[in-house]
Amino acid sequence: MFDKIDHIGIAVKDLEKAIRFYRDQLGLELKGIEEVEEQKVKVAFFPVKESNLELLESTDPSGPVSKFIEKRGEGFHHLSFRVSDLEGKLRQLKDQGIQLIDEKPRYGAGGAKIAFLNPKSTGGILIELCQH
Ligand code: ZN
Repeated sequence: MFDKIDHIGIAVKDLEKAIRFYRDQLGLELKGIEEVEEQKVKVAFFPVKESNLELLESTDPSGPVSKFIEKRGEGFHHLSFRVSDLEGKLRQLKDQGIQLIDEKPRYGAGGAKIAFLNPKSTGGILIELCQH
């Protein structure tokens, strides 16, 4: 099943500005910044106990995060559950009729294997499953 909420993804227009808020004003610790070429995003991670906040800034106007912000504005983007058997979980969800965005895992930040479920099947929330 799900091991924990791995992270919460937040779409931002200006990563530096968002970092100043989360690090300098909220006092969270910035763990690292990484560019994920395939997703056309730059991400910053802030650990909060067992989970993380993941701030996402688009590096390209055609990227998924740019499009998301255009449509819905900045803010909550996705919820990520950690699993220990991503392929198995995807098969199981597919068998249950859940629509998947990613039929096969791909690589996300930190070298994790990730896959997204289609928000049409989840009540409007973009859910990511990840395996480290
Ligand atoms: Zn994520």
